[in-house]
Amino acid sequence: MVGAGIAGCTAAYELARRGFRVRLLERRGIAHGASGRNQGLLLNDVEAGSVEMMRRALPLYRELEGGPVPFELREAPYLLVARDDGQLRFVEERAAVMRSAGLPCEPVSGAELRSGLPQLREDVAGAYLLHGCWALSAAAATRAFAEAARDCGAQLRLGVSAGPLSIRSGRLEGLITDEGPIRADAVVIAAGPWLPDLVAGAPVSTGRGWLLSTGPLGFRLPWVVLEMAWPDLEDLGRAARPPRLAEIAAGDYELPSAATVTLVGQPAGHALLGTSLAPSLLEPVEAVDMPRRIARRALDLLPGFAEVSITRGWYGLRPMSPDGLPLVGPTAVEGLFVHGGHGSIGMQSAPWTARELADAMDGGGTPPAQFSPARFDVDWDALNRRRR
Ligand SMILES: Cc1cc2nc3c(=O)[nH]c(=O)nc-3n(C[C@H](O)[C@H](O)[C@H](O)COP(=O)(O)OP(=O)(O)OC[C@H]3O[C@@H](n4cnc5c(N)ncnc54)[C@H](O)[C@@H]3O)c2cc1C
Repeated sequence: MVGAGIAGCTAAYELARRGFRVRLLERRGIAHGASGRNQGLLLNDVEAGSVEMMRRALPLYRELEGGPVPFELREAPYLLVARDDGQLRFVEERAAVMRSAGLPCEPVSGAELRSGLPQLREDVAGAYLLHGCWALSAAAATRAFAEAARDCGAQLRLGVSAGPLSIRSGRLEGLITDEGPIRADAVVIAAGPWLPDLVAGAPVSTGRGWLLSTGPLGFRLPWVVLEMAWPDLEDLGRAARPPRLAEIAAGDYELPSAATVTLVGQPAGHALLGTSLAPSLLEPVEAVDMPRRIARRALDLLPGFAEVSITRGWYGLRPMSPDGLPLVGPTAVEGLFVHGGHGSIGMQSAPWTARELADAMDGGGTPPAQFSPARFDVDWDALNRRRR
């Protein structure tokens, strides 16, 4: 297993508890990547498919709730806010989708809005309250899966970089690491946006997103606040593919494909404020003015937050797939599996997709077709050409 983000730690746990001998290699630390830098929403886009993912992930998080790593799993109603009539039509349509997926979602009166969130601007076009949503602390939840994997016998090797794979005649023999070559019957690559470094041609690109953290608010936030400006999974387009040379030459490739106000209160009394999604070249730190953009957008919606202190800011690198859904399962190279490309929905989807992957590796079938890596036209020969 390569990568100790939510994708690697959930898969390590699922495989170890089935009796596989698991060694997980991570070159930095547990949850060092996006898995330790996100808002921890288990419904990160307001879509029926995401409700299904949340429902499947929730019992798996609950399994670990009593374990050694607390991760603040909590029910958190969402306030879906529309600034203008266009957004309001979108919210109404989403509210209907949520209701048909079984989640209560009703309009909020102006009086209720003003007493619950007096910091909100007064002239919003409307808002709906969505119940039955869940949130957690992402870094801690990833650690909880890592510890559960260790408890089931998995060996975690931190600070160890996995290098090229050893492939002979289309079959994987193992991989080369900082600690020397390792032979393995199977390797699962869960390396987030670095997945193509190991699996040549894998259709995973990078989407950078920024967050700000407030200091103590001094008041209770009754709802997670979501401005309904985030595009659908399949509409994310530009962020779901690497930028083109002409776009880089034009100098604006790193402008956000999506930007919206999301405000998630934390049990400790502060809040996480975001967020953006922009194509990234992975190594250059693009769009360093994003904290300012996020702050401006947030202030426009929540003028009452002007004096709230902001104590930290950071970015995370989302592993984007072309259709916004993860890649889960075997590749054309025998013994090589991927668990990646979870994009903006890793916390909500990885516990479930890891279970599907482990069931398939255990001989119990194949992961759901919508996640199959074979749905993309990947040049697996490129990988074979790198055989030793
Ligand atoms: C701002 C922001 C907000 C988000 N909010 C949410 C949310 O509310 N809900 C949600 O569900 N999702 C959210 N996401 C998405 C979520 O964070 C990602 O989908 C998820 O973290 C991806 O997990 P991963 O394990 O695939 O990748 P990562 O967390 O990046 O983990 C990959 C790991 O692999 C390691 N690695 C890479 N290459 C090697 C190598 N060669 N050898 C050894 N180790 C290696 C890396 O060091 C890293 O630790 C958000 C993302 C961002 C950026």
